[in-house]
Amino acid sequence: MGAFFDDATTPYRLGLAGMVAGRSDIAWRDRGFLELTDRKKGVALVSGGGSGHEPLHAGFLGEGMLGAVCPGHIFTSPNARQVLEATRAVDDGSGVVHVVKNYTGDVMNFGVAAALAAEEGIRVETVLVGDDVATDLGDGNGDGGGNGDGDGVAGGSGGPGRRGTGATILVEKACGAAAARGAELGVVADVGRNVARRARSIAMSLGGARTPGSAESFSLADDEAEFGVGIHGERGVDRRKRMSVEDAVAEMIDEVHGAAGSPDRVLVLANGLGGIAGLELEAILALACGELESRGARIERTMCGNYITAWDMAGFSLTVLGVDDDLLDLLDAPTSAPAWDAPAPYSGVPEISDGALDDLPAADSGPAQPELSAWVERVLAASDELTELDRKAGDGDFGVNMREALAPFDLPLRGTVGAVLHALGESYLVRAGGTSGAVFGLFFATMGATAGDAESLSDVDLAAVARAGLDAVVELGGAQVGDGTVVDAIEPAVLALEDGGTLADAAHHAATGAEATADRVAGKGRASYVGDAAKGVADPGALVMARFFEALAG
Ligand code: ADP
Ligand code: MG
Repeated sequence: MGAFFDDATTPYRLGLAGMVAGRSDIAWRDRGFLELTDRKKGVALVSGGGSGHEPLHAGFLGEGMLGAVCPGHIFTSPNARQVLEATRAVDDGSGVVHVVKNYTGDVMNFGVAAALAAEEGIRVETVLVGDDVATDLGDGNGDGGGNGDGDGVAGGSGGPGRRGTGATILVEKACGAAAARGAELGVVADVGRNVARRARSIAMSLGGARTPGSAESFSLADDEAEFGVGIHGERGVDRRKRMSVEDAVAEMIDEVHGAAGSPDRVLVLANGLGGIAGLELEAILALACGELESRGARIERTMCGNYITAWDMAGFSLTVLGVDDDLLDLLDAPTSAPAWDAPAPYSGVPEISDGALDDLPAADSGPAQPELSAWVERVLAASDELTELDRKAGDGDFGVNMREALAPFDLPLRGTVGAVLHALGESYLVRAGGTSGAVFGLFFATMGATAGDAESLSDVDLAAVARAGLDAVVELGGAQVGDGTVVDAIEPAVLALEDGGTLADAAHHAATGAEATADRVAGKGRASYVGDAAKGVADPGALVMARFFEALAG
């Protein structure tokens, strides 16, 4: 299940109510549209379409963009009456531009409304947006100028033509800026048609949309991807074995840049379809920029975000728009529409490297440290199990943090005891993340600083060294025995050593302490957030510390 509501109507009504509640500059009109209140005079823009693509369209209501928006039900076009009422409401005699995505229902309803409005003497121009190359069944000659039908969307062979997708907001922005500058109706519409002609898009996803009350619109196996999906959960044109995202983006950019007429100055838009993480989308933008540059295009602006979604589809679309100075000027103009992000000037995709990794101490020369090496080997071998424990009681990154810190070392670890402990600590602090990065890092770094330059563990005062490590960890995190952390294993071991016990005694106490963490709800660390769910699950950090003292004992 991908939705909290189990029918489609409630989230439609409540969602519109929420949009109005969240803004002071728009209102719901009972005749079926959202309107920007206190709009400045001039040519007005009306758009709309099925709901479920938020923030499209309501998020683009604003000065310098849309004056009214007609929302249909989820993935359903609005009706002609809604559009006519909105058109009447916004017209102040300057005329109205309808921005219409090329879907049969939208085209018909906007068309009927435009005709009815014309009968009342309202001047209406329609800008049809059809940028989705996946639905281009026409000559596909990549002239970037459509097929000469004036709308630039015709698909040839009498089909419905290219669907309108990502380019819609670019059309709305350019038209809105032109209107805000006082351009007259025909000029505003031509600005929009120009953008529609010069923009092409394509989308890809790893699954369908899960709208309330419906099954997923289509589903894919783990190793499949769908190319050319639409924004209504439609199947794509091409189901494939999953390829690398690098290859997919290369192919997509190749297609859309070519279909847009291979412009040499471009805006590129990476748009999330609703179910893709922000960081992945940024990564896709970086790849797209690289591809465009390798095609010799100059990237003038980038945009990245969820603008035209397909409910919760796990996918993205890429749009390439050929630009010139005039068009950039319109796209850069301010707007009060909350969902519009100013396109960012492009300054290249930098190489992201982690410089701190370069000067980490190695542990690859000097006497071998077999006990510490055995511990590293054991933790690495158990990293999946440790992650599983952390998944049950925490967030499931523990094993990854261990691997990040320990896997880079060549075994056996070599160097004085102090140097090897220090190297382990530094590696945790720099390479690992999370609480364990800090806790283990400080523990080992402190022990390293205390251990001196003995060549063998047997020459080290382990009670004092482990005590120093323990005190540092307690000072850092404030955990007491019983809180279900590393302290539950370390402290009993340190006390045993300070009591004159052997390393075997220490190891035994550490293991007992670690196992006991399964019996109580953790009091510190992330396991404390999940309450009873942590019961019966041993703390992975404590287990790793128990393994540490066991390894020292040999
Ligand atoms: P995160 O909790 O950030 O996901 P990890 O999963 O990498 O970090 O590390 C969790 C481990 O950190 C736990 O197993 C626990 O032993 C240890 N830990 C958590 N909180 C503390 C604390 N306050 N003091 C000492 N160790 C702690
Ligand atoms: Mg964790």
